Amino acid sequence: LIQLSVPLNFIGFIYREIRQGLTDIEAMFRLLGVKPEVVDAADANALRVDAGAVEFRDVHFAYDPARPILKGVSFKVPAGKTIAIVGPSGAGKSTISRLLYRFYDPQGGQVLIDGQDVRDVTQKSLRHAIGMVPQDTVLFNDTIAYNIRYGRVDASEEELETAADLAQISGFIARLPDGFDTMVGERGLKLSGGEKQRVAIARTILKAPPVLVLDEATSALDSHTEREIQSALDKVSQGRTTLVIAHRLSTVVNADEIIVLQDGLIAERGTHAVLIAQGGLYASMWDRQREASEAEERLRAVRESD
Ligand code: ATP
Repeated sequence: LIQLSVPLNFIGFIYREIRQGLTDIEAMFRLLGVKPEVVDAADANALRVDAGAVEFRDVHFAYDPARPILKGVSFKVPAGKTIAIVGPSGAGKSTISRLLYRFYDPQGGQVLIDGQDVRDVTQKSLRHAIGMVPQDTVLFNDTIAYNIRYGRVDASEEELETAADLAQISGFIARLPDGFDTMVGERGLKLSGGEKQRVAIARTILKAPPVLVLDEATSALDSHTEREIQSALDKVSQGRTTLVIAHRLSTVVNADEIIVLQDGLIAERGTHAVLIAQGGLYASMWDRQREASEAEERLRAVRESD
């Protein structure tokens, strides 16, 4: 925890930095000089990434011992495949991504990448292997180029532009006053949620990690932006082991397997077609979401005709 000798004005500085858009959780830990909850094992080796297969084996987890969040969750993401996690709000979907990235350790069971327990490898090598597109990307107060390059600092100009293209953000950048050199973040140009997420996608494309975690934005995006982001995500996840944390269902239709999480357990699993045919929890979530989006469309049509 924060040492008491840290001068108060330094804490104020940190607070402001965080408020003003310092972002990345690791950078925050570094700045605070605070140890994250987990530390490398004394004999930790670098993760040896082969194909990048992910496995959760009977994982039990609680933030607070009185309230278990995961009560024995097992699934595999075969190398190169896409698995989507869905379920009611608060079911523990994002928690799964945090355990894979090892922000926390499970109280029981194992999280493995290519057969290696994430607790046995260095955090540096683990985080090098995983690309995270978080729910809400907060950008650095720097240029848009810097924010994308953060994925791989030695990327060439051409690679930078290709990544922006694939992430469907280059048209937007071209219209900015200083293009890639435009300052963004709290002290610069403020980007919308969808634009920020595409910057995060471009960053991840540059990083080119074998394992990808997409934690979808919870906030509603308009359907055009959603389609653009979806096509950017499809490009980046091609051929990579991908875990999609889906807060909306429209993005999971093509996943190789959908896992429905409820009350800390996997309630259903299968492809979209299988789960719909099954007529269970997923099917009813799907119906409800479709009704909601249809109602939204009708509302929009009414507004536009006014
Ligand atoms: P949503 O779809 O609403 O984002 P989710 O399924 O992703 O939900 P999680 O973010 O994994 O849910 O959270 C699962 C539960 O754990 C929630 O009830 C949440 O309040 C709780 N929780 C999340 N983070 C913490 C934390 N750092 N400390 C304590 N409880 C937490």
